[in-house]
Amino acid sequence: MSKIDTLCIHAGYTPGKGEPRQLPIVQSTTFKYETSDQMGRLFDLEDSGYFYTRLQNPTNDAVAARIAALEGGIGAVLTSSGQAANLFACLNICQAGDHIVSLNNIYGGTVNLLGVSLPKMGIEVTFIGADATDEEIDKAFRPETKLLFGETLSNPGVEVLDIERFARIAHEHGVPLVVDNTFPTPIHLRPFEWGADIVTHSTTKYIDGHGVSVGGCIVDSGNFDWNAHADKYPGLCTPDESYHGLVYTEKFGKAAFITKAVTHLMRDLGSIQSPQNAFYLNLGLQTLHLRIKRHTESALKVATFLSSHPAVAWINFPELPGDSQHEKQLKYLPDGSCGVMCLGLKGGREFENKFMDALRLVTIETHVADCHSCILHPASHTHRQLSDEQLRAAGIAPDLIRLSIGLEDPDDIIEDISNALDIASA
Ligand SMILES: *Cc1c(COP(=O)(O)O)cnc(C)c1O
Repeated sequence: MSKIDTLCIHAGYTPGKGEPRQLPIVQSTTFKYETSDQMGRLFDLEDSGYFYTRLQNPTNDAVAARIAALEGGIGAVLTSSGQAANLFACLNICQAGDHIVSLNNIYGGTVNLLGVSLPKMGIEVTFIGADATDEEIDKAFRPETKLLFGETLSNPGVEVLDIERFARIAHEHGVPLVVDNTFPTPIHLRPFEWGADIVTHSTTKYIDGHGVSVGGCIVDSGNFDWNAHADKYPGLCTPDESYHGLVYTEKFGKAAFITKAVTHLMRDLGSIQSPQNAFYLNLGLQTLHLRIKRHTESALKVATFLSSHPAVAWINFPELPGDSQHEKQLKYLPDGSCGVMCLGLKGGREFENKFMDALRLVTIETHVADCHSCILHPASHTHRQLSDEQLRAAGIAPDLIRLSIGLEDPDDIIEDISNALDIASA
C-alpha cells in the first residue's frame, strides 16, 4: 500500500475487528484514565495517549496522519485554519527578535500575517521576489533569520516555486524552507521530494474540496537537522521548563518540530481543528486524487479557450505552452497544477465588472479550489487592504481576475464564460 490513490482512502486509519469501516468522529473533549499516575505521565510526555482535544483527538490524528503519508512526512497536525497553520509553523521556531525571509507573491492573508501581525509580536519579515538573484536573496538574510517561506503554487498568481533553488538557499543559511502547498495538494506536488522541510496547507481549499470546513495542516518532513543549528533554535534544542526541562530534539529526534507544535503551541495557543471538520477532511481526502485531476483537466480546457479569446488581454495558467511558468510546471508539476488561473480583460475594470456580473454558473465568491466554479477580483476583494504598490510587489495586476474551475462539465463553464464576455462586449 504505497500508491498515492490508495493512501487517500486508507492511510492513517486501519479499523480492527468490529470497528467502524469509515473513520468515526470522536466528538469528546476528554478521555478517561484508571489511575492518577497514568494521567500524570501524559502531562510529562512520558506516555502517549489522548487526554484533552485541544492537544490531540483520534479523528484529527487519523486525518493528520493521512496528510503526512500523502506528503511523505513523518508527522502532521491539523489546525483550525490555513492562517493558523502558517502562524504556528512560524511561531514554533521564531520568537520576538527573530526574522523571516518570505517570497512576496503569496496569498494576501499570509502577506498580512507576515507583514503586519508578526512584526507586532517582534518578528520581522523581509519579502523577496521569486526572480531575485541569489545575491539579492542572500542579502535579505540576517543572523537572526529562522526560516524561508514561500508558496509552491502562488495564490492568486499561480507562479511555480523553484523549490530546489529556494531549499538550497535556505540550507546555505542554516534555516528550513517552509512551503504552503495548498494549491497543488500532495497529489500533484510533494515538496519534501525537492528539499522543502516543512509543508503547510489551507485544507479549506482542495483537500476539503466542497466548501464546507475551514481548516489547516502543518506537515514535518523530519529532515531538518535542528541540532546542527542549535544556537538558532533554542525552543527545540534547549530544555523546555514547561515540561520539566525536556529537550525536544533529544526526546523526539526527527519529530521534534511537529511534537513541539502540538505539545507547546496547541497547549498554549489553541487553534485545534474540530473533530467534525476533520471528518469532512477525511471525506475530501478520499476523493482528492480524482477531483484534483478533473479540476486541472477542466482548467486547461477553459484556459485554452480564454487564451485565444479576443477580449482577453493576458492569462496565466502554468500548463499553457507559452506561460512564463510552463518550464517549472513541467519539472515540479508534471501531472498538472490545479484548477486556478488568473487573467486580465482588455476592456479594463468596468468591463471586468460587467463580465463578472453577467456570469450565471460561475459565482463571485471569496473562495477558490472547491467543486463550484468561482471568480474573484483580488484588488477589489481579498487584497483590498493592499496598496497598488503592494499589489504590484505581490505580482498582482490591478486588473487581475482569479478564476477557479470547479467540477461542473467544462463545456458548461466555457459556455457561461463565453456568454458573459459577449454580454459585457455588447
Ligand atoms: C486560503 C489560503 C490560506 C489561508 O487559509 P484559511 O484556511 O482561509 O485560513 C493560506 N494559504 C493559501 C495559499 C491559501 O489559498
